[in-house]
Amino acid sequence: MTETIPVPSDIAKNAHIDAETYQRMYKASVEDTEAFWRKEGERIDWITPYTRVKNTSFQSPNVYIRWYEDGTLNASANCIDRHLATRGDQTAIIWEPDAPTDEAKHITYRELHEKVCRFANVLKELGIGRGDRVVIYLPMIPEAAYAMLACARIGAVHSVVFAGFSPDSLANRINDCDAKLVITSDGAPRGGRTTNLKDNTNSALLHCKESVKCLVVRRTGQQVAWNAGQDYWLDALEATVDADCPPEEMGAEDPLFILYTSGSTGRPKGVVHTTGGYMVYAAMTHKLTFDYKDGEIYWCTADVGWVTGHTYIVYGPLANGAISLMFEGVPTYPDAGRFWAVCEKHKVATFYTAPTAIRALMGKGDEPVKAHDLSSLRILGTVGEPINPEAWRWYDEVVGAKRCPIVDTWWQTETGGHLITPLPGATPTKPGSATTPFFGIKPAVLDANTGEVLEGATEGVLVIADSWPGQMRTVWGDHQRFVETYFQHYKGYYFTGDGCRRDEDGYYWITGRVDDVLNVSGHRMGTAEIESTLVAHPAVSEAAVVGYPHDIKGQGIYCYVTLMSDKEPSEALRKELSDWVRSEIGPIAKPDLIQWAPGLPKTRSGKIMRRILRKIAEDDFGALGDTSTLADPAVVDDLIENRQNRK
Ligand code: ATP
Ligand code: MG
Repeated sequence: MTETIPVPSDIAKNAHIDAETYQRMYKASVEDTEAFWRKEGERIDWITPYTRVKNTSFQSPNVYIRWYEDGTLNASANCIDRHLATRGDQTAIIWEPDAPTDEAKHITYRELHEKVCRFANVLKELGIGRGDRVVIYLPMIPEAAYAMLACARIGAVHSVVFAGFSPDSLANRINDCDAKLVITSDGAPRGGRTTNLKDNTNSALLHCKESVKCLVVRRTGQQVAWNAGQDYWLDALEATVDADCPPEEMGAEDPLFILYTSGSTGRPKGVVHTTGGYMVYAAMTHKLTFDYKDGEIYWCTADVGWVTGHTYIVYGPLANGAISLMFEGVPTYPDAGRFWAVCEKHKVATFYTAPTAIRALMGKGDEPVKAHDLSSLRILGTVGEPINPEAWRWYDEVVGAKRCPIVDTWWQTETGGHLITPLPGATPTKPGSATTPFFGIKPAVLDANTGEVLEGATEGVLVIADSWPGQMRTVWGDHQRFVETYFQHYKGYYFTGDGCRRDEDGYYWITGRVDDVLNVSGHRMGTAEIESTLVAHPAVSEAAVVGYPHDIKGQGIYCYVTLMSDKEPSEALRKELSDWVRSEIGPIAKPDLIQWAPGLPKTRSGKIMRRILRKIAEDDFGALGDTSTLADPAVVDDLIENRQNRK
């Protein structure tokens, strides 16, 4: 029996959505989807109101997704202008720099308006207009948000590339979307070190059209290699342009941005999101999932290079007139208490981060958390991977002092916003479960092989039966790939690529990617379960499990294990872990091979790249595929060197 944690009564009392409201509204949202979204569309401001709400088809090959299609609006006006009369002097963005000794900035909505307008006018000066693509390659500085909103203001389509990516990755993305301009900075401080972003950009631009211009934000003041005629300083141009820029009137289905997925499973896809439906969904999910209340300090620790940063640092919070904290640094600089120091300093109420960060900080023990006053915290959130119950409990007990509901939000770059998530005042939680669907979302569980719809408590492939406004519209330049990737496997459904279990209460448990299901001696098993068991052992900080071909069992269980910083690897410990998994899950789950992994190969967003681990486990590391999105390629060499399955 898994435990159920009730909604704290003080939270339920004052929440936007309580349990009864959730039931009633959810029912209405799936029974008359059109009427539901017609009303919810009013959350944002329209220039021309929509009359048509939903026009979508999941029937391959004829897949199209259109919401509010005859409405017009501007996303940046929704994030800025509409708040000026009521909260012009309220902070919109709090910026916390990499070094704790540097001063934080508070940018009001009025200041944001001027910054974004000037930035937009600079873009126009550089010849950027409606529909043009602009790549943003910036550290976590306010200018990253200004740049996104400036693009939105003039109808240009932004594509943010995480500043940790290599020149190659950057060049690929500039070329794939045929960008006219790339926005970068001189340097990017992170964790006490500085990357020369301008140098990276210069290297990337060697592989792009000569006509691509480069706009440079001054962050560090360091020397940069300058290409006259191609490069422009933002500060120099900003001073010469007007402080006002009227927002362009955009169609609801005009693209707002392209974002390349993190590439955990293959070549990154240019996910296209459009304006109207995305803004409605971003605003609504931000407000309800985090039970956001006016005046609260809200902090999402993601990078703006990920969809989480788009929807839950910039568009969602700002559309709601929230105070959004942006952090330039890393959780462990200058020490493992930094996240908690920032929470204390800025009186953060909502804290939203990734399981990978939670596990890493859990590995450092409770002391760094306990050294700070976290009484301002009200809501905690996670996103990115299944969270192991062990890490969930630590987050709940040590960080949240058992007062703060945890929202484990399941969603994807493709979905634009949360699809399965608890609502703080409505949903009792279970550690490790993303719980129940958001309004308007119709999840279904299918048999992986037959595609048959499975009812009740069951396990299978997670699909979504109907569209929602935040859904991606296409893969940039390749609608065929969109149809093939998401709508061909199971006819009439959006295929998520994830497996899940649904329990007797209708709660969803994401078991990981469908590719990650093991078949050991005829038994199907999610790798996530074995990983969670390993992480529950006191010596283990992180674990990744993959299958490899096994003569007798079909697939063997190969475990990569990272130990707590104070533990040493030994044969005795290897045996102990093996026995531990056997006793916790059963003999069928007993690991065949355990490799000590000082580090795991992760994407820049902190997700374990299992396809690489599978290759190494198969002793087939010659063909690792695209590794350009790895955070630290050196990790792979160590794993290859110490692989356990040598043929
Ligand atoms: P690519 O699609 O390029 O392989 P990616 O899937 O890692 O990359 P994202 O869109 O950032 O790119 O991640 C979405 C995936 O992350 C989901 O499909 C799911 O596997 C996982 N995920 C996200 N949030 C959760 C969560 N709360 N619980 C479980 N898994 C999650
Ligand atoms: Mg994906």
